[in-house]
Amino acid sequence: MDVSQVEKVKEEVFNRLGISATENGIFSGSWKKGKSSRTIRSISPIDGTNLCSIDQATENDYNSVVSTSVKAFEEWSQVPAPKRGEFIKKVSDALENSKKDLGLIVSLEIGKVISEGQGEIQEMIDIGHYALGLSRQLFGLTMASERPFHRMYEQWLPVGPVGVISAFNFPSSVWSWNSFIAAVCGDSVIWKPSSKAALSAIAVTKVVASVMEKESVPPIFSTICGGGAEIGELLSKDPRIPVVSFTGSVATGKIISKNVAERLGRSILELGGNNGVIVSSKADRSISMKGLLFGALATAGQRCTTTRRAIIESTIYKSFTSDLIQAYSSVNIGNPLKSETLVGPLIDESAVKTYQKTVSEAVKQGGKVLSGGNILKIKGLENGYYVEPTIIEANDKVTISNDETFAPILYVFKYEKIEEAIKIHNSVPQGLSSAIFTNDIREEEAFLSSSGSDCGIANVNTSTAGAEIGGAFGGEKNTGGGRESGSDAWKGYMRRQTVSKNYGKTLPLSQNVEFRIS
Ligand code: NAD
Repeated sequence: MDVSQVEKVKEEVFNRLGISATENGIFSGSWKKGKSSRTIRSISPIDGTNLCSIDQATENDYNSVVSTSVKAFEEWSQVPAPKRGEFIKKVSDALENSKKDLGLIVSLEIGKVISEGQGEIQEMIDIGHYALGLSRQLFGLTMASERPFHRMYEQWLPVGPVGVISAFNFPSSVWSWNSFIAAVCGDSVIWKPSSKAALSAIAVTKVVASVMEKESVPPIFSTICGGGAEIGELLSKDPRIPVVSFTGSVATGKIISKNVAERLGRSILELGGNNGVIVSSKADRSISMKGLLFGALATAGQRCTTTRRAIIESTIYKSFTSDLIQAYSSVNIGNPLKSETLVGPLIDESAVKTYQKTVSEAVKQGGKVLSGGNILKIKGLENGYYVEPTIIEANDKVTISNDETFAPILYVFKYEKIEEAIKIHNSVPQGLSSAIFTNDIREEEAFLSSSGSDCGIANVNTSTAGAEIGGAFGGEKNTGGGRESGSDAWKGYMRRQTVSKNYGKTLPLSQNVEFRIS
């Protein structure tokens, strides 16, 4: 029997990265076997190839990881921030050396096309560079005191071990957005990766662990594999973890948010999106078409920033949708390891079922399928999870378009006036990414005004997907309000302390309050 391309790539990459068929699921200073009787089976969505079996942690394992992380935090928080930054730069360099193989692991396990798998690792490298610069810029403000001979300022201090619970679709970069920033802030990090992406987490952790060992750094980065409902819940309820950063669905985010709030901890929530694009008649056709195609099709519609709704001006609606349908028909769907493929598989069988259910529900509600709508069986990849990218003509009765379906389904709407377009745009519960394609400055400014896009990210003449690391990433409404990555998102991983110092010879009180002691 011929060895499949997936098997071949797997064998080569596993050899180079030192991964075997069974892997320990816990790293906490050293690799440990999780004591749960259950294991995570990492299966490639490309063709169903069994990639690896990873053991899962129990509550006892979890407690031991947290104790190690608390100790590591005590030591690491004393290291000057610029030194912490130098270490992260070394981690980033090591990731760069293994970029090709780590990217291939992401492609094998998640089904991302090659360049997107490589892009995932590049994002980690970039954030490492960003964190190095940030390590010398954790600035606080100085305020004028109203009291004589007083000095008032704020300082930012490390907060403690940070829990990072990540989603399957960005199996490593989202960890680095949180972890590299948290580490230069002086925190340790405990990572609970998605069970659908545990192998990617193990591979990244192997590279990072070798740098920690070489540099004799305390085990500030721990990884613990296990079920969301077990390990994820333990993390969210644990008062030893002052900050929990969660990336995932709205439904799970609500559970995390409640658990963390109950103990008055801090959560950073990066939840689902339902991203819309307004295409005006005043847009450049080729830019808007390319932006829409990338946004709707990249990662097979499994990005939090995937374009799920296109709101198109009525005067161009017919010609634009017809060009869109034409473009969809020329997209290569299939094995993501082949360079010509644009759309790979969905993550698993349940994602395919959700796709199917959503298409039929949309039709039931009055939507019209303009393109796609079917499951695909690809020769040689019969055990993979492929679907046709789908365009559905919709209106406000097609209420399923309010939900985020993690699949390549694009709803198209028609509008007459820009105000109506913005209303349709803002009518969904989520508020992550948004875009307008127009060359009209008035439309652009309407979209960016306070009554414009209600999302955390607003783009003009570029796609909803593909954010850069330098900006604060996150969204409003059901997307959870968290911010990660660039700008001042680092403040989420530190505690602010306002300092007032009296260097005078009396004790004047603020607001002229007198307190006489006879
Ligand atoms: P998910 O909510 O199913 O799982 C996310 C993580 O939560 C996993 O690690 C899972 O094991 C864990 N988990 C599950 N139940 C839990 C519980 N009860 N307590 C604690 N943790 C639990 O999401 P997914 O399917 O892996 O990812 C897709 C979702 O993530 C989409 O909604 C997508 O939009 C969202 N996402 C958002 C962003 C963003 O930045 N806003 C980025 C990537 C993905």
